[in-house]
Formats: sequence, C-alpha cells, structure tokens
Amino acid sequence: MSQVDSVCPARREVVRLFGMRLEALQELSDSLHFPRYAAMQMAEWLYHRKVASTDDMLNLSKVRRAQLQEVAEVGVAAPADVQVSADGARKYLFPASPGGFVETVFIPDGERATACISSQVGCRMGCAFCMTGRQRFTGNLSSGDILNQLRSLPEYEALTNVVYMGMGEPFDNLDAVLESIEVLTAPWGFGMAARRITVSTAGVIPGMEEFLRRTRCHLAVSLHNPFDNERAAMMPVQHKYPISEVVRTLRRYDFSDYRRLSFEYIVFDGLNDTPRHADALAALLKGLPCRINLIRFHAIEGSAFRGAPEERMLDFQRRLQSHGLQVTIRHSRGEDIMAACGMLSTLKNNVQ
Ligand code: SF4
Repeated sequence: MSQVDSVCPARREVVRLFGMRLEALQELSDSLHFPRYAAMQMAEWLYHRKVASTDDMLNLSKVRRAQLQEVAEVGVAAPADVQVSADGARKYLFPASPGGFVETVFIPDGERATACISSQVGCRMGCAFCMTGRQRFTGNLSSGDILNQLRSLPEYEALTNVVYMGMGEPFDNLDAVLESIEVLTAPWGFGMAARRITVSTAGVIPGMEEFLRRTRCHLAVSLHNPFDNERAAMMPVQHKYPISEVVRTLRRYDFSDYRRLSFEYIVFDGLNDTPRHADALAALLKGLPCRINLIRFHAIEGSAFRGAPEERMLDFQRRLQSHGLQVTIRHSRGEDIMAACGMLSTLKNNVQ
C-alpha cells in the first residue's frame, strides 16, 4: 500500500509522518494539493525542528495544517521507562508500532556518545547465546519506530554515533532499516554522516549486499566462530548463510576507504577461544581490510554459555595479532541493567 492509499479520507487512516522519506512526504503533499515546497517544509519540521504535532508546523497555513491533521500525525513517542547503569549507560524502553516495546541503549564514552537502537520486536535469528533470540519475534519496526529511538532519546543532542545493534536482525527488516538510514543521512533529514552509523548483521547476505550498494555506513558482522558446524550450533543463520559465503561476498566490496568493516566475536569459555579457533579465524579473514572486536560475554540466566577468562581473551587477541590482524577487546556496557551485548529483551519486563 502506498502512502497515498493510506491517506485516502474514505479509509480514515492516519499516516505517521515521522520516519517518512522526502519522496513519500511529496506524495502525501501532492495528494492534499499542497504546493511542491510543502514536503520540504514538513521534512524541516520533522527532522530539523523536531516538532511533536502537525499544529506546530507554523509555516504551513492554518487551513493546510487542519487538512494535514485530518489524515496524518507526527507520531513520535517518549520512552516509557529508563534504567541507569552504574557505568553511566542508560537503557530506554520505547513503544513499537507492531505492538510491544523495544530497548535502546545510550552509551556515553568521553567525547563519544552512542545510541544502540533496535530494528525488530524480538528476533527470528535465534542465536543460542542471546536474550533477544529467546524472545518470540512479534514484528518489524517501521522507519518511524527506528528513528524515534533517536529523536525521542533525552540525550539526542549529545549523540555522536548510532549503531543498529539492539534487538533484531536489521537485514531481516531491510526496507525500514534502509528507509531510516536515508532519513538519518539525507540533508533534508537528520543530516548525520554515514561514517557515524554502523549496522550489525548475523550474516543475512541478500540484505547485506543491498545495504552495501545503497549506503556508505559501516558494517559489523557477528562472526563468533570460524568453523561451520560449531557456528551452526550457536547461530542457526549459519545453515542458510554460511560464514565462509558471507566473507566471500564481502571480498567483492571496497572497505579500504570511507566504510569500515568489523567482525564481532564474543569469546566463550572453551567454545571458541582456543588457538585452533584463532588460526582458523585469521585464515578466514586473510587479506580482508577489517578489524575484529573481541567481546566479553555476560552470563544470562539459564544459559550454559560462559565468558572466557581475561587471560584467555588476551591470549586469543595476541594470537590473532600475530597473524597481522587488527584486534580490539570491547568492554560491553550496562551489564547491571541487562543492557550489554546479547542481553536485550522486553520479555523480562513483561511488556511484550
Ligand atoms: S544476536 Fe542479534 S541476530 Fe542473533 S538472536 Fe540476538 S538480536 Fe538476533
């Protein structure tokens, strides 16, 4: 259904303006017989001046505002809850249009302030070590839902970076994710530089390729194990998109310039932290311009997975570095409020 169909007065449906691309705003504006420039004015109010109501779009005439109000609303929503970590991270609960809620994490770090946003309510990928994976998938967020996690974040003005690493697999909700990136990066939208944005995937190849063709944002691939059979036991997506095929696909793209490629690797005790794993990982990524982020695992209730001890993580890092790889150990933030990597879920809040 196009935006125009959805504003047909006979259907009495109200369109959500926030999150719409300029082209869709234009289509809506045309359907209301507004002048051509009205779409740009709406974009300005939505994304630069951040109004919460069509009533506040003051350079549209009163008559036009009334017409617009008949068929559309801005559609932004404040967070329903917040939890503050001892380390300064904050986790917000935002309402989602498919129903339920999603979590968004704000991570201040010196000069840098990152929002980790969600793209789905739950997730279909079912990674064995992830709380979101355990949560039943209930729907895709719209572009407006995705962007509302930024625009309605109390710390919005302080944000320097955005990562699509919250709940859900972004490339399983490709259209809305690409739409949100367009609004985020366009001059008529938020005007954010693509190099400030990173999208993470478990390795959904078709979506990943579309993303690489259409944006200049950074890509992070959740790798976690270089061996096919072992990875399949942790990440069912491996059956459909083997990591060797993901890496082969990535070799066709240019990561030497503006765009950065990284691989996320949660280091599990005794599962993927041996010299054998490090050597296989190095062989898999040989010659690919990338960095590896080793991530500490945070124990999840009822899960058999355990994080590797510190010394083994350092050994693993050194072994990879001896192969010439760029490797960082990441300190995931907000563990005490269940906001760290792999811990996001709205099931525990009983709000799904
Ligand atoms: S790790 Fe990511 S892709 Fe895997 S289940 Fe969790 S949210 Fe989904």
